[in-house]
Amino acid sequence: MKVTKCRSCHAPVIWAQTLRDKFLPVNPEPSDKGQVTLEEREGKPPLALYHGVKARGITYYVPHWATCPQSKQWRKKNESNTAEIYGT
Ligand SMILES: [Zn+2]
Repeated sequence: MKVTKCRSCHAPVIWAQTLRDKFLPVNPEPSDKGQVTLEEREGKPPLALYHGVKARGITYYVPHWATCPQSKQWRKKNESNTAEIYGT
C-alpha cells in the first residue's frame, strides 16, 4: 500500500477510500485500538472498512486523525468522513 505524508504533521499515512469514495488517511502501523481494515485493490486506493465488532487474526488500523497532533485543525473539514466511518 502506498504510504504518503500527512499534510499537517508529516507523519506517514495511507490514503484509503471508504465505500462512499471519500478519502480516509490511516496510520500505516496496525493498532490494537484500530477498527478499520484496509482491503487492497488493483489500481485504486485500498478500501477502508469500519468494524464495530472485531475478530481475531485480523489487522486493524486507526484513522490518522485519531493520532494527528493537528487533528483539531482538520477534523472540521473531515466531519462528514467521521460520520460516515463511525456512523455518528
Ligand atoms: Zn497528521
